[in-house]
Amino acid sequence: MNSNSFPHISAKSPSFLDDEHALRTHQALLVTVLDNIRACVYMKAPDGRYLYANRAFGELLQRPPAQLIGLHDEDLFPPDAGSHFRLLDAQATVGGCKVEGMEVFRLPDGRDRFYWSVKMPLFTDKGEMYALLGMSTDMTERKHLEDELLRLATTDDLTRLSNRRHFLERAESTLSRSRRYNEPLALLMCDIDFFKNINDTFGHAVGDQALCKVADIIRGSLRDTDLAGRIGGEEFAILLVQTELDSAHEVADRLRQSIEASPIDLDDGQHILLTISIGIATPSYPMETLATLLQHADQALYAAKRQGRNRVCMA
Ligand code: GH3
Ligand code: MG
Ligand code: MG
Repeated sequence: MNSNSFPHISAKSPSFLDDEHALRTHQALLVTVLDNIRACVYMKAPDGRYLYANRAFGELLQRPPAQLIGLHDEDLFPPDAGSHFRLLDAQATVGGCKVEGMEVFRLPDGRDRFYWSVKMPLFTDKGEMYALLGMSTDMTERKHLEDELLRLATTDDLTRLSNRRHFLERAESTLSRSRRYNEPLALLMCDIDFFKNINDTFGHAVGDQALCKVADIIRGSLRDTDLAGRIGGEEFAILLVQTELDSAHEVADRLRQSIEASPIDLDDGQHILLTISIGIATPSYPMETLATLLQHADQALYAAKRQGRNRVCMA
């Protein structure tokens, strides 16, 4: 757009009429921008009453913007959402400066939308705050995309457990934390017995089914705080937090028994028995590293294999 089309920035010296024209043009420009911008723009009084809402904000709340004036967040959003918004509002008001952050708007239909919000206090010439200006940009699709990318980068496609890299990263930080607080911890290395036979006899798809079944049983037998990952073809690792060796042995043996008791039922009526061998290692602080802990659990796993499989051995 040609800058001369806005009289207020014209190089010519403005007359009184030019000034009025400039003001009107300026206002029209502002209203047009505010009503066509995709971000929600709003202004609140220091007591939280809405003083202004643009069209996008009205559309989000399914009300004409004029009907929002004079209302509070509590009148427009469920109770938990209202207090959530007050957090950023309060930071901007108390700090007296611009703040920004992610906010979740729960729509009247219950769906969550994620907004990146910028809030800034507006002051009179005397330095008194008279309003809080907010601009919230919808980031929902981007947030979903980011969540999906994160999921793809951290989980194993087949079993939906953590992939090797993600398990090792989380295990590293969990071990550091346990070392710092001198808390017990146990690492379980699990390997399906004679898995090659399953693939060779029944095909790769049934092999995949077996991997998913073992993963499901592992997932179902752990606490929320425990970590589990598929760290190799038919190898799984489990980190039990705040767990002594004896308890870890009980958990491992229960897991072994559950898998043994859950054959794969094929369509033709055949049942494939699945068993796993498990090696357990617990750290000796302060020297133990994740690498040595994994090595000790591996050695225990191979002892279980050597002793005949379908058993649990401790390092
Ligand atoms: P052991 O009791 O000593 O553990 O014997 P095993 O047959 O389980 O061990 P081995 O390491 O010889 O075989 C592992 C097999 O796992 C070989 C490989 O074809 C198979 N495998 C690895 N990844 C996958 C996968 O994603 N899907 C399927 N179906 N098979 C896989
Ligand atoms: Mg193996
Ligand atoms: Mg195996």
